[in-house]
Amino acid sequence: MSALNLATEVHTSGNMAIRSHLRQAAELIFISRQLSDMDGLSLADRLTTVHGVCPDRIVLLGDMSGSVSGQASATRHYRHVFDSAESQEVDDFVRDFVQQYRLEHNEGNLLLVDANRQRRLQLSERLNTFGYQTHEADNLVDALRVMRIHVIDLIISASESGSGFHCLDLIQTVRSKQSHHLEMPILVMTDNSSDADCLELLNSGANDYLRHSAGTTELIARIGNLVKTRQLYEQVKYQRARLMDLAMTDQLTRVYNRHYLFEVAPQKVSEARRHHFDLSLIILDLDHFKLINDRFGHGTGDTVLHSVGKLLLDLTRKEDVVGRFGGEEFVILLTHCDLSYAFAKAGKIAEHIRALKPDGVDLTASFGVAALDPATDTSFSDLFNRADKAVYQAKDAGRDRVEIAHAPSVLSR
Ligand code: GH3
Ligand code: MG
Ligand code: MG
Repeated sequence: MSALNLATEVHTSGNMAIRSHLRQAAELIFISRQLSDMDGLSLADRLTTVHGVCPDRIVLLGDMSGSVSGQASATRHYRHVFDSAESQEVDDFVRDFVQQYRLEHNEGNLLLVDANRQRRLQLSERLNTFGYQTHEADNLVDALRVMRIHVIDLIISASESGSGFHCLDLIQTVRSKQSHHLEMPILVMTDNSSDADCLELLNSGANDYLRHSAGTTELIARIGNLVKTRQLYEQVKYQRARLMDLAMTDQLTRVYNRHYLFEVAPQKVSEARRHHFDLSLIILDLDHFKLINDRFGHGTGDTVLHSVGKLLLDLTRKEDVVGRFGGEEFVILLTHCDLSYAFAKAGKIAEHIRALKPDGVDLTASFGVAALDPATDTSFSDLFNRADKAVYQAKDAGRDRVEIAHAPSVLSR
């Protein structure tokens, strides 16, 4: 929450939460399943029925089925119910909410850059009364520092170069290729600049300009336009990243999905062949997974898969590709790793899986390991098929073990 610039209040009891809400209504109320004096759902029901809070402002965290009124009530009244506060879904929900809220309200963080302190303070006060948050800087270095620390929606910069500050420098720095703020809107406040000067500012990357003497209505209208456009852009950018993530990752295990795997793996194989670096593949298939489902139910089966996904991500490097390509089949593509390293790695993963016991379930897996042989593996599927065969050998040999696929070029020698 603090990373998103949101103020929070934390209470452990429902009554404290109600009192706090009556003092100052909160935009969102997160309620966990059990509080010190009542269960979470009772608090939610009291807030909505007695105190008129809209159910959409309530976010329930944790399984509510054990509480007095039960899950049915939770799903009937409340749209925002999440299994745990730590989940990605809660993160996404809060971000969505904040973006929408800021769009619908006059909310935005403005950076005022002006060497004239008095004029800067006056503008700041004017904008604060309209609900905008302001940060101030009197030179370029200071402005860049503020932008590193705070999320800024718009820069409002004075055009004149009092005390050595040049607005053009600021514009050029923000719009330079190396800039981290390339898309930041800039509004320039001018004094008696000529039309030609103003045109130059626009040409160098300012989005708009306005005279210091402009009335408040015009000032607020122009700022509102630039801030809204900026926030909409950020929203689209964020949603695009989320869609990419959805398209690439398996939602149950958080590792890459089959689709992404078969897109990226062939690229890695060609790279390794062209640049002559080692590339190894580990395939693992959970043992008797069907029995786990049959014995403990699909829910437990899913938990097991989720924990294996997490384990694999924890045990591998960032540049390794971890993917789920079947129900209970995972692959790990290790760049710059030879066969002996991959074999050791698989052994280590096997050990961790044995010790994992997700939901108390005993778990083992069978592994096949293969290293790219540039002489015979011309594509990812060659490498994959060899590792896959090794998995079958591991199954045949009694499961819970690692088998190496020897390169055909070695075998034929
Ligand atoms: P083996 O040791 O020979 O690999 O036996 P196995 O039971 O693990 O293999 P099999 O291929 O017969 O069964 C795989 C099972 O995985 C069958 C399927 O119901 C289950 N499964 C596939 N996807 C999911 C999933 O997303 N969730 C759950 N809970 N089960 C899944
Ligand atoms: Mg299988
Ligand atoms: Mg299996």
